[in-house]
Formats: sequence, structure tokens, C-alpha cells
Amino acid sequence: MTTLAPPRADLRSAVRRLAPGLLALSHDLHAHPEPAWGEHRSSRRLAAYLAGAGLEVELPAYGLPTAFRATAGTTGPLVVLCCEYDALPGLGHGCGHNVVAAAAAGAAAALAPLAGSAGGRVVALGTPAEEGGGGKIELLRRHAFDGAAAALLVHPGPHDQVRAPFRAAASSSVLFRGRAAHAAMAPGSGRNALDAAVFAYQALGSARSGLGHGEQVTAVLVRGGTAPNVVPEDAELRVMTRAGTTAGLERLADLVARSARAGALATGCTSRVVPAGRVYRELRTDRRLAASLERHLRDLGRSPRAADPRDLLTAGSTDLGNVSHVVPVAHPKLAIGDVAPHSRAFTRAAGSPAGDRAVLDGATLLALTVLDVWASRRPQGEQS
Ligand SMILES: [Zn+2]
Ligand SMILES: [Zn+2]
Repeated sequence: MTTLAPPRADLRSAVRRLAPGLLALSHDLHAHPEPAWGEHRSSRRLAAYLAGAGLEVELPAYGLPTAFRATAGTTGPLVVLCCEYDALPGLGHGCGHNVVAAAAAGAAAALAPLAGSAGGRVVALGTPAEEGGGGKIELLRRHAFDGAAAALLVHPGPHDQVRAPFRAAASSSVLFRGRAAHAAMAPGSGRNALDAAVFAYQALGSARSGLGHGEQVTAVLVRGGTAPNVVPEDAELRVMTRAGTTAGLERLADLVARSARAGALATGCTSRVVPAGRVYRELRTDRRLAASLERHLRDLGRSPRAADPRDLLTAGSTDLGNVSHVVPVAHPKLAIGDVAPHSRAFTRAAGSPAGDRAVLDGATLLALTVLDVWASRRPQGEQS
């Protein structure tokens, strides 16, 4: 099949034409933040925008109430552009997912009229619950990424970066069980579950200096008794482990288990470690996608930072990591100010003129990269 790629200039001017609607979309999402799995308004707003841009929209999709799928094109390589739109409880869009969603929707809207003539397919996939809910892991299980030649998103950050690392991450609850007793009249007959949890917390803390590069254990005490005149019979730690790879998480799981047993042993309580939520795998960046993105980012006048092994020490995690083990993926970051995500300053930046620039540059960047995939890759299953 011979296809004529539409000139890149067409896509750039399409994004410029779409700019007022895209910025209104980004600001609207920013002004109405919704937490993971509760993104009803946001998913409807995005679906309406994409339908208005000529894509065929399904909402809900894959049996998830706040997921959607918007498609353009009927043949050729399929690229999935991920729209994230969940916010952080109490912080609004402190991870800037309004920018992620508007950039992906903008790229899909710019590409939609060209898909037929260019011989490619694009899907704007509404992926709920990135913040801890593992929405993309659920979507992957439900075949939302089947047959994709690539899956992409752009995410705001403190600097421009094509190959930002994302660590594997797992969460668990450590449950301690003791025996309640009157704290003054019969303390000796009690078994203090709070003491067990504190002991385990300290054991985790003292192990930190021995962790490997990029390994991290963080914990909070979420339950530890209700009244100071009763020996607490129940306590719970929530623990999160991160490592450069999923295999590295196993060593940390062993550390969590030993710390839990140590707390239980010292206090005569029992302990149980229960996995919580899904394991986020480390992100693998596809080399060819990264090369395209790097080139287009420079053309946009941005200066992507080179990869540095030290970046792993402060890397977060993403549910796109799991997708990246199945489908070629890239997750570039666009600078919106020298602030770290998950802060009030980042929430402000995500709705600022710098956030707006990231929406428009992000839409252009994604659209140009999709064009490269359309031009260079055959759809899965098609013989060459
Ligand atoms: Zn986040
Ligand atoms: Zn995020």
C-alpha cells in the first residue's frame, strides 16, 4: 500500500486552529478536578470534544464507567494516545492531567481529518485512575491496547525530557493483631498492636541505608488504636515500595515481610502482609518513538534533557509502564515550571500560560510522532 503522508505543516496549523478550544478544554478540566474512578464530568467533556472533532466515540468503554475510546481512520497502523484526567484528592490537578488529556485530545483532533488519506488509525483512549488505580492496567487486561503499533502520552513536568524513567511500584497493607486490655488496670494481659506497627516502621526505616540504587520504601501508619486507655488490638501500616524493575520489588517485599515479623515478634502480636492495588511495572521507552519525539521537540524550540542515571532516584511510577511491556510506548515530559508534581505549585502551573504552552506543544508533538508511526510501521498482523 502506498500512502502519502500529509505535510507536517498541515498538522502544525491544525493545532493552531484548534488552540482556543483545546485551552478551554484544559482549563475546564483543571477547574473541575475529579479523583480516580470518579472522573464522570471530565470523561464526558473530553468525549464531547472528540465527537465534535469528528472522531467516533464510545463512552463508557471496556466496561469502565469513566473510560472512553475515540477513533479515527479505518486501516493502517494504530496509535493509541492516552488521555489521563484524574486529579489528586485535596490538591486538584496537582499532577497536571488536564494537560495530558487536552494534548492527547488535540493531537487526535488534528489527525482525524488526515487519517483516511494518510492510511493510519488513531485512538484517543480515555484512561481513568492513573493515580494509584492502575486504570491502564485494567484497560490492558480488557484488550484496549490490542493491535496498537504504539501508545503515547505527554505529561507536564519540571523540564523537557523524552526518556524520563518511571520505577516499578507496589503497595501493601501490613496488618498487626494484638489483644485489647485496660491500659491502666491490666496492661500486662494486652498485646500492643500499635507497638508492633511502630517497631516494624522503624525496622523499615533502619533498612533504608542498605537499599540499592533507585530502591525506596515509604510507609504511613493508618490505624493504631482508638483510645489511650485501651491497649490497641489492631494496627495497620500502608507501605509502598519502588525499584528500577519489577524484579527489584521482590527483594523489597522480603524486607517488608521481615520487618512485619520483627514487629510482631517483639510484641507478641501477629502480622500479615496483604498486597494492595496493582503492581506498576517500570516504563520501557521505545527507541524509535524516542528518536521521533526528540527531533520534534527540538523543532518546537524545546531542549529535552539528556537521560541521567540519577533521575531514577526521584522517579515516580506510571500505569503506562505495564503497557510498555506489551506495546511500544513513550511518555515524554514537557516543562511547565521548575516545580515538582503533586504540589499546590504544580496545580497552579498546570492551569498557567506555561501549562497552556505544554498543551499546544504536546498536541503538536504527539501528532507529528503519530505521523512518523503511520509512515514507518505496518499494523500488527499485516504481512510485509
Ligand atoms: Zn501523579
Ligand atoms: Zn501524572
